[in-house]
Amino acid sequence: MAMRIDILTTFPEMFGVESPAALGLSIPARARSRGLIEWHATNLRAFADNKHRKTDDRPFGGGPGMVMMCQPVWDAVHAVEAMDPRPATRVLMTPQGVPLTQPLVEDLARRPRLLIIAGHYEGIDERVIEALSPMEVSLGDYVLSGGELAAMVLIDAVARLIPGALGDDESAGNDSFSAVGPGGERLLDCPHFTRPKDWMGRGVPEVLLSGDHAKVAAWRLEQMRARTRSRRPDLLGPTP
Ligand code: SAM
Repeated sequence: MAMRIDILTTFPEMFGVESPAALGLSIPARARSRGLIEWHATNLRAFADNKHRKTDDRPFGGGPGMVMMCQPVWDAVHAVEAMDPRPATRVLMTPQGVPLTQPLVEDLARRPRLLIIAGHYEGIDERVIEALSPMEVSLGDYVLSGGELAAMVLIDAVARLIPGALGDDESAGNDSFSAVGPGGERLLDCPHFTRPKDWMGRGVPEVLLSGDHAKVAAWRLEQMRARTRSRRPDLLGPTP
């Protein structure tokens, strides 16, 4: 059965499955056409119980911006959750959440159902966040205009980990941040090269032309370790 992801948003058009943009192309689109994953964007406005279908209002205490109201978010979450009997993991995209890392993506990719809430404006009324207690997830320490792009990043990262999403000649196992070292260290990927052998006077490492698979594997692992040491020593943990 396909993993199901619902997105609650005021901009459902951004997720058009037939659109050639973003999720409509490449690996997420392939995973979807293979029946491994499906996603549905639901317009929060459809759940607004006021005649203008307003989903936001001015902040108490004054100040600039608008705040997304509790009622449309609450009603939309419950209506969408009722569309499928499988329990949904609620995820709120917010710059104040836990960082989206590969271990978290791996965890989310094992769940049967995700329900992603994309905020906009100043964010969402705190009371409905407390009442829904979603997992709060951030893309990083910067502020986007809305949670839609963040949700797409999460869906893309999850989709490629679902068994069968990648082709036979592709593998997520050697990608950066995946467990690859003998000790299960999460390393950066090694450098990659393709034809021609000589490009503007630059060659490729001899070992890659040797045809010796064991040597190539050892070289790649060494490169991964060296890159991680120099670029992201934090991934290796404290030196013993
Ligand atoms: N006032 C909020 C704050 O400073 O924490 C930022 C609101 S932001 C303009 C609007 C929406 O974009 C947020 O509700 C969230 O859904 C999304 N967003 C912005 N930055 C994000 C990030 N780094 N990670 C995930 N979602 C983000």
